[in-house]
Amino acid sequence: MRIDLHTHSNISDGTDTPTELVDRARAVGLDVVALTDHDTFAGLDEAVARGEQVDVQVVRGMELSCARERQSVHLLAYGVDSEAPGLAAELEKVRGGRLGRLGGVLARLADLGVPVTEEEVLAEVGESPSVGRPHIADAMVKAGHVADRTEAFDRFLADGGPAHVPRYAIPVERGIDLVHAAGGAAVIAHPWGRGREHVLPPEVLSRLASDHGLEGIEVDHQDHDPKTRTRLRGLAGELGLLVTGSSDYHGTGKLDHDLGCNTTDPDVLSALLARVASVG
Ligand code: AMP
Ligand code: ZN
Ligand code: FE
Ligand code: FE
Repeated sequence: MRIDLHTHSNISDGTDTPTELVDRARAVGLDVVALTDHDTFAGLDEAVARGEQVDVQVVRGMELSCARERQSVHLLAYGVDSEAPGLAAELEKVRGGRLGRLGGVLARLADLGVPVTEEEVLAEVGESPSVGRPHIADAMVKAGHVADRTEAFDRFLADGGPAHVPRYAIPVERGIDLVHAAGGAAVIAHPWGRGREHVLPPEVLSRLASDHGLEGIEVDHQDHDPKTRTRLRGLAGELGLLVTGSSDYHGTGKLDHDLGCNTTDPDVLSALLARVASVG
């Protein structure tokens, strides 16, 4: 049984439609795929319906933009009730913050000599309710300023980069509590990726587990090297956290994140889904 619990469609900043993503999951031999678009549930109904047609189990997910001490933390939520009022209100705020920061980023890009217009970015956003930096990157590629998304991030858009503008994100403790209140299970995405260990050191992960009932951490992720994976796996064992693995697939938007390149143990999925059922 092959299980990938973290993927993005073009409902946020991936490039496949939810239907295409599920078809591709089937083509690469996945039995289970979770769609986890950033800060929106808008692609889930389509993905679930397609999964029923082509015999792929689609887990309802979402990647929630959280923060700790002003540094971003991504929280994977599984099986939440998308209508739960507390979470829905916070998601509105996060999505508003995504749109609100756009003008600031565009002003900086103009100052840096690589201008793109709001119209050009919104053309990349399309119908997505969740405007992301990758959409800005795509507009920069189309304008001929950079070769690809990676160059746009490395030179301009990455956290702390010259065109980075912070946006509203939910304190991670509150994010976990909101996911639970909405009947879901919470897993921290790529906790130590991109040099982020200082944002979530072991004592903080320990506290999130003991005081907030965090269910798990994503260990097998392309942003974690083998040594980091070994250390995180050990820590998860000590803290009683579930260990997941996933691709963080974004279609052609992210290289080296092919569907199924990391997978999750079936027992872990069972434990997560049992948790979802018991919270509801
Ligand atoms: P946003 O949702 O606007 O905060 O942007 C987050 C998205 O940007 C996610 O898809 C990340 O994978 C991607 N991203 C963040 N940092 C980088 C980076 N340094 N290089 C490439 N992609 C990145
Ligand atoms: Zn993304
Ligand atoms: Fe993420
Ligand atoms: Fe992701």
